[in-house]
Amino acid sequence: MDYFLYNDGALHAEDVALSQIATAVGTPFYVYSSASLLRHFKLLDDALQGMDHLICYAMKAASNQAILKLLGDAGAGMDVVSGGEYARARAAGIPAERIVFSGVGKTRSEMEMVMRGGIRQFNVESEPEMRLLSQLAVELEQIAPITIRINPDVDAKTHAKISTGKKEDKFGIPISRAREVYALAAGLPGLKIVGIDVHIGSQLTELEPFALAYEKVAKLAEILRADGHEIMRLDLGGGLGIPYEKNNGYPPSPADYGALIREKVGHLGCEIEIEPGRFITGNAGLLVSEVIYVKEGEDREFLIVDGAMNDLIRPAMYGAHHEIVPIVEPAAGADYQPYDVVGPVCESGDTFAKGRALPEMQAGDLIAFRSAGAYGAVMASEYNSRPLVPEVMVHGDQFAVIRARPSLEDIINRDIIPEWQ
Ligand SMILES: *Cc1c(COP(=O)(O)O)cnc(C)c1O
Repeated sequence: MDYFLYNDGALHAEDVALSQIATAVGTPFYVYSSASLLRHFKLLDDALQGMDHLICYAMKAASNQAILKLLGDAGAGMDVVSGGEYARARAAGIPAERIVFSGVGKTRSEMEMVMRGGIRQFNVESEPEMRLLSQLAVELEQIAPITIRINPDVDAKTHAKISTGKKEDKFGIPISRAREVYALAAGLPGLKIVGIDVHIGSQLTELEPFALAYEKVAKLAEILRADGHEIMRLDLGGGLGIPYEKNNGYPPSPADYGALIREKVGHLGCEIEIEPGRFITGNAGLLVSEVIYVKEGEDREFLIVDGAMNDLIRPAMYGAHHEIVPIVEPAAGADYQPYDVVGPVCESGDTFAKGRALPEMQAGDLIAFRSAGAYGAVMASEYNSRPLVPEVMVHGDQFAVIRARPSLEDIINRDIIPEWQ
């Protein structure tokens, strides 16, 4: 459930009509419902009740300061994957002890920034990273708390581009080598082992891969404890899927996911961290766009809209499905017809949907792409010199621009013509 519903024939975000935002901000724009964001966070928080836990929102899914602050005020920590994300999280007031640093390619300067600023833990993904972190910690006369991300060799049964837990994926350390690598970590100065980390992929629509991975983690925790390591924390990653398509089944509920965690690792008495991104923001955001033209093709009709692949790249990149709905509620019994919904960018890949059934549309009509809150605005670019798409947040009957659309002047003035020209 989310808070994007028709009311009096007009699609609303909570109590604000989207047409009202479109008039104020112009299209295209992203809009987030703060009630939906908090609801999704709370569903997971409730699912983990009774276990010592921290939800570290994977902020790469949507990293606007307003979103971070909203979730941070509700008690969330953050999973960051770059120095930039760390800086964003701190700027939004997230305490250092609630931030975990993940990623396969942490640079020296990123690690240094994070060490100086404070961190809950580094999720270390390789031996060279571990050695560098150790050196740096010694230089800074600090102790770096670490988990080691293990790759459990589990098929997440999700899209190949977002599967991360199979042995051929670049992430983590093979579970078969875990004991050896923990022993190495224990012998390096400046590091303190605090637990184990795992993240097997994104948009998981079944519990089974989580079950397999968490069983392996639980066994490993016992082995590592027997080896003398202090395993007090388990970071179980993110990846819980969301429904993108109507009438196409539901991914596991957060309650069932929480129950699974309790069943598989509850007996270890560890502090539990999870790193959900998509689950929190995916269905809490829409991309709103206006129809520019309805164009007759030879055997189809094109709906050419003012949003494009640079604003929402998921269909072009992953073949992802987004529900597309008109902002004016279709009349009961309205006729639907197939449209190819496309953007103005000069690439055939700039296609959001083919043959999508919609009521008859006209130039000037507004549409919304659902489930666009995660991996939407954060992946946007200015390809074709299209200004970076703005973001809006709704709270009850109020809305605010949380990132403004840059002017063409702003965009052009970022370039510098060298003196010699
Ligand atoms: C991307 C990522 C996540 C979040 O994945 P979602 O599918 O959005 O929940 C969590 N942890 C790590 C390490 C990631 O890279």
